[in-house]
Amino acid sequence: MDENAQQALAEAQACLDRGELEAGLVAARAAAQATDPATRARAGWLQAQFTFRRGDYAGVLALAEDLSPLLRAHSSDDLREFHRIVAFAGAESGRFDLALAAAYEVHALAEATGKPGPLSQALNTLGICFERMGDPWQAERLLREALAIAREGAALRELISALNNLCAVLIGTHYLQRGSEVTAASLAALDRALPLAEEMVGLIGATGDPYSRIISEGNLGEILVHLGERDRSRTLLDRTLAEALRLGFGPQAQRLNCSLAEWALRHAAPEQARTVLQTLLAEAGDRPLMPMTELRAQHALYMAHKALGDTTAALRHLEKHSDLLRERIVQQLQAQSEQFITRVEAEQSRREVERQRDRAQSLEADTRRDPLTGLGNRRAVEHHVPALLKETAAASRPVTLAILDLDHFKQINDRHGHLVGDRVLVAMAQLMRECVRQADLVARIGGEEFLLVLPDANESRALEVCERIRQHVAGHDWAALSPGLAVTLSAGLASAPPYDETALATRADQALYRAKARGRNGVEAG
Ligand code: GH3
Ligand code: MG
Ligand code: MG
Repeated sequence: MDENAQQALAEAQACLDRGELEAGLVAARAAAQATDPATRARAGWLQAQFTFRRGDYAGVLALAEDLSPLLRAHSSDDLREFHRIVAFAGAESGRFDLALAAAYEVHALAEATGKPGPLSQALNTLGICFERMGDPWQAERLLREALAIAREGAALRELISALNNLCAVLIGTHYLQRGSEVTAASLAALDRALPLAEEMVGLIGATGDPYSRIISEGNLGEILVHLGERDRSRTLLDRTLAEALRLGFGPQAQRLNCSLAEWALRHAAPEQARTVLQTLLAEAGDRPLMPMTELRAQHALYMAHKALGDTTAALRHLEKHSDLLRERIVQQLQAQSEQFITRVEAEQSRREVERQRDRAQSLEADTRRDPLTGLGNRRAVEHHVPALLKETAAASRPVTLAILDLDHFKQINDRHGHLVGDRVLVAMAQLMRECVRQADLVARIGGEEFLLVLPDANESRALEVCERIRQHVAGHDWAALSPGLAVTLSAGLASAPPYDETALATRADQALYRAKARGRNGVEAG
């Protein structure tokens, strides 16, 4: 089974190189039956290429849902190339939302490769989307950049693609600026396009890819028609049209027919133009033409009928042309409007980002805070102490760690109630804060157990601090909280060096134990 699929895959690839669409599509569909997902992915990719070249843009877009995840798992190069086709198909058929999403994906994948070829292709793809969305100026900028990158270090195929699409954009600019009369500005766009088209046709010989050849010769022919190069354009268009028809490149053949009709109009053969275009529309039947081809066809039919003196038919095509143009402009404006962010929206989204960041920060801070006393908890200790010790060790500065534990706290709870116990803990936190410096760390690490980290305090200085706390607590007016209440604490401390956290904690713990053993309400160093 998979052996057949492999054969079909090889056949489909060969068809792509030879430009055989129908046979290629049959082979690709057969290969897509493979059980091996890598073969299925490649077969799907080939199927997309054939579908696109036939001009079945809806077919390409329909492939995306299943094929994207398959390609994502197997080849990021094929995925990138597929998204590129989706972008073109979307832009060509007015689905600008899909087109732009695909183009941005192409760009992200290209950036990930860090190579000039893919990056050039990505800018190229985005440029075509902008051109189809009615912004040929942005498009020209992107495509010139794509071309510059391609000239510096991309493969021939990518250089040709950049030249080709820049030509297409400039031709589009010509039509946009032309109106019903050719203007200096519209001709200037063609003058910019001509050397690029010449260069491209020259390069194509080396690749032998029939699809690229038809597109580039079609572009050159179209430019030459509008620049009035009578014989050269005609020869080129006739030859390219025959080739496009032979290979079944439908949309390209339609485009070439339009160019031939425009040629006929320019050279006093309106009847010929009318015949070509009427045949073109009749053969297309219900299947839509590419929007640009349809617009050109309607405009040329208007001109042809007018030249032949059939005013009614001329007006019909003029109306059709302006209807299509309006539809297209509305579609483009809608797409542009979705891209357009007002300053108000930008400000709102900036504030929302800030709010989310603040919320995330305060959530993180909450996990490190003891809710009863507002002091840091064990997590805060784990977060701050290792770095602090490392820093002081590097600078060979002293640091002391102290553990403070309330004496007979269980009894306090038993005699005065848990609520009073809680208030004692809150008051304790406050008393401790009053006795230490801003840079000192105070944390509640257990029920009635606190940790102090005193940077820059050696043992004798730390003994002073802990002694001050002990006295402050013992001398506090606890009876105001509950009649007969008295609170004392015991503390054990350990100074660095050595700067090892576990060793320091153990020594402090042992010192605390000694303080308790000596009758409590005292401070011991270990
Ligand atoms: P020692 O002097 O040996 O430290 O005796 P102690 O009673 O303080 O020590 P022990 O570890 O036996 O008891 C600690 C008590 O602290 C037990 C527990 O009920 C109380 N405790 C722990 N967390 C809280 C708290 O959040 N609020 C209150 N009110 N009491 C707490
Ligand atoms: Mg205790
Ligand atoms: Mg305790």
